[in-house]
Amino acid sequence: MNFLIVGNWKMNTIPSEGLRIVDKICLHMKSLDISVDILICPPFTHLVVCSELIRHLKSPLRIGAQNCSSESYGAFTGEISAQMLRDLDVEYIIIGHSERRTIFNETNDTIVKKCIQALDAGIIPIVCIGESLQQRDEGQTLAIIKSQIHAICSNEIIVHHEFAHAIIFAYEPIWAIGTGIAAKPEQAEEVHIYIRTLLQEYFPEFYLTIPILYGGSVNEANAKEFFSKKDINGALVGGASLKAESFIEIAKAAYR
Ligand code: PEP
Repeated sequence: MNFLIVGNWKMNTIPSEGLRIVDKICLHMKSLDISVDILICPPFTHLVVCSELIRHLKSPLRIGAQNCSSESYGAFTGEISAQMLRDLDVEYIIIGHSERRTIFNETNDTIVKKCIQALDAGIIPIVCIGESLQQRDEGQTLAIIKSQIHAICSNEIIVHHEFAHAIIFAYEPIWAIGTGIAAKPEQAEEVHIYIRTLLQEYFPEFYLTIPILYGGSVNEANAKEFFSKKDINGALVGGASLKAESFIEIAKAAYR
């Protein structure tokens, strides 16, 4: 499987700034190997202009969203459905980011619903899972991961969905997100191996090809070491994805 490098811009940049970043990434990508897939997830307001620019530049850069509604349509003021995003050429949606879980009180149930919405719309869900510092200190990491994976993978609709094989998981220890304190690559790999083992139970036919990304303070300096681990198939990058040069350096670190 190709490495996947995902940029999560969060609620940063205005569209004109976003376009400048896209322009630079696309320029750098011309000289890059196609064995690494690169995806940006800008705010909703940027999706149309960014995908127009990517199309205009004929770039292989992919575009995703950071969230979607758990509902498909109707009286849900302020919500954006997966179908609406699909119509904008969005190919991926980040679901269950820890900021959504903690700040916006998203539960595993909400995340399951969003995941189904994405799959039904033909969009690849990137499902984020991970433990807090307190949970790690209490030795709860693997139990938390198990319950988050179970919530998604034991759902009958998801497990039998025709696009279930497309789901991507991102292990993002909450204590490593935006803190500058990344997990040690060995710590991340231990959890990734565990995730792979869990996935084998639910998806015995394709568990080996499900990408498992690492996220949490990935930067140009530490990326290569993460990518040297067998079960780390790419990265979900926050802060460092807002600088095209840094983001591209992270992508380059994924070359074998
Ligand atoms: C993220 O937002 O998913 C993330 C990993 O952020 P950062 O790279 O800034 O830690």
